[in-house]
Amino acid sequence: MALLQISEPGEATAPHQYRLAVGIDLGTTNSLVATVRNGKAETLPDNNGQAILPSVVQYLGDNKLVVGEAAKNAAVDDPYNTIGSVKRLMGRSMADIKKLSGAIKYDFVDTESNVPRIKTRGGAVSAVEVSAAILTQLKRRAEQALGDELSGVVITVPAYFDDAQRQASKDAAKLAGLKVLRLLNEPTAAAVAYGLDNKAEGIHVVYDLGGGTFDISILRLNRGVFEVMATAGNSALGGDDFDQVIAQWIMQQAGIADNSNQSLIRYVSQQACAAKEVLSQSEQVEIVLDGAMGLSWHGVLSRSKLNELLDPLIKKTLIPCRRALRDAEVTQAEIEDVIMVGGSTRMLRVRERVAEFFQCEPLVAIDPDKVVAIGAAVQAHTLVGNKSDDEILLLDVIPLSLGIETMGGLVEKVIYRNTTIPAAKAQDFTTFKDGQTAMSIHVLQGERELVSDNRSLARFELRGIPPMVAGAARIRVTFQVDADGLLSVTAREQTSGVESSVQVKPSYGLEDAEIAQMLTDSLSHAAQDVAARNLCEQKVAAERVVLALQSALKADGDRLLSAAERKNLDAGLRHLQEVAQGNDHAAIKLATERLNESSTEFAARRMNDSIRSAMAGHNVDEFSE
Ligand code: AMP
Repeated sequence: MALLQISEPGEATAPHQYRLAVGIDLGTTNSLVATVRNGKAETLPDNNGQAILPSVVQYLGDNKLVVGEAAKNAAVDDPYNTIGSVKRLMGRSMADIKKLSGAIKYDFVDTESNVPRIKTRGGAVSAVEVSAAILTQLKRRAEQALGDELSGVVITVPAYFDDAQRQASKDAAKLAGLKVLRLLNEPTAAAVAYGLDNKAEGIHVVYDLGGGTFDISILRLNRGVFEVMATAGNSALGGDDFDQVIAQWIMQQAGIADNSNQSLIRYVSQQACAAKEVLSQSEQVEIVLDGAMGLSWHGVLSRSKLNELLDPLIKKTLIPCRRALRDAEVTQAEIEDVIMVGGSTRMLRVRERVAEFFQCEPLVAIDPDKVVAIGAAVQAHTLVGNKSDDEILLLDVIPLSLGIETMGGLVEKVIYRNTTIPAAKAQDFTTFKDGQTAMSIHVLQGERELVSDNRSLARFELRGIPPMVAGAARIRVTFQVDADGLLSVTAREQTSGVESSVQVKPSYGLEDAEIAQMLTDSLSHAAQDVAARNLCEQKVAAERVVLALQSALKADGDRLLSAAERKNLDAGLRHLQEVAQGNDHAAIKLATERLNESSTEFAARRMNDSIRSAMAGHNVDEFSE
């Protein structure tokens, strides 16, 4: 006989209530929302049956705004009040935006908080607010379709998004009234959509080629744990570049020499794009340039010609693929599946080349525009508790190493790049000077040896260290990167327990191209960096000897040294101080060693002296027990 369950007063009678959760792909160009219904993940369409919401917001004034297709259509006539591609501005400072390629055409207003705001008819808006408007629209769509309030949402972000960009995405969700269950890396979401987490184990690749960008990620599933092993990409390579190459070919065929007429180029590019998309189904396509701009030409583009034109660009995507494989330390033969994401992976040639490169047929069954949102929906469904027996744990990777500044302007890496997150690592550091009671902790990101070549994330101070001789204090610095990629750093002096910490939410972020550049720099400057590190370390060693000897001389120099000995040590000390100003690594090393040697006798006398005074008044037998 089954036992009857009795609920507590005020508690629901149902032991497990179904909760509504959605996944949102908040994209640069387009956004989507998806959910799991009747055990099946699907994107939710608007009233016109469109699942894709263009990530564009038009501000009309009087607190009114339009989001999506209508806003996109208004962009040409009302460019300054219609904001698109706002994802590129998330978590960015004004200085970062000035560095971004010329595409950002809006009117920015300077603000005291350093958060850039775009001037519109509806007031000055931040990237977070624009994103929140897009999220609000998707939330409304989901609640209408599902008939109730949402319990939570999983939002996807590029794997290379840094802390500031992730934090900005979370802020946008909060502003839209959404409860973020977690942020999920886009490639990880794609892998979940294909149910790769149900496999026992294996290494999988996510090849994401959209309109303007290319991203490659290598994932490993191991004993139920999903981790991103490496990521790479090219932020300026995608279907738009394919269109340009085809457009050039059309103009050449049609005898159009005018390369400066922007509207004509736009028109031909649109024809090129349409032809390219048709060729994903047909062997050839007829291209017609009609009277629009005094043009009259028609011709045929075959799939084989298209392949010939685009092969060099497709080949360019394989460079980051090789880099990611190298970073992940795996070979093509070890790859089990390749998942295709992004509209440009509908091109048959792209699929062929990818299959050749990775030696396996890519997975294309799920619409490459929807696959990320679908994976996010599956994950949201699990996280909200609708699938309690499922225990997938999704791990992502940090794109650049994290570390702290040590003496001499050097960086000590604490967590290495491509470490899976969540991650925590502690390292012990010590004081440099006698009686040092405070320590400045400078948190850095990057691969180079010198502080000046890396990116500064945050600074904070640990105060109240008990005064001790240099090197005696033990300060444990712990780096913790949470599941959303947010970093917190804590410093704790072990004997006294004094502690200080910082949450790193840097006010500006990095583009994947900048990350790639930082990695390239670290390789090309490797030899130079090693030499710089050696020199810095030698200078620090010299300074340590100088400080120790100065303090010993001050305490016992007059008592334990003859005048001649004192003179000799003073001269050695001065010589080392002078040499350490220069950049001759070998000379500093030699002078340090010489001074160490010539002060050995003095050190021995000090030690004997302190032993003698410690033993004074005691029987020798007391010490031998
Ligand atoms: P996304 O950024 O993922 O939305 O991808 C947009 C790009 O995919 C654009 O360059 C489109 O021209 C391209 N695209 C969409 N459908 C196709 C297709 N059937 N064949 C080739 N390219 C396509």
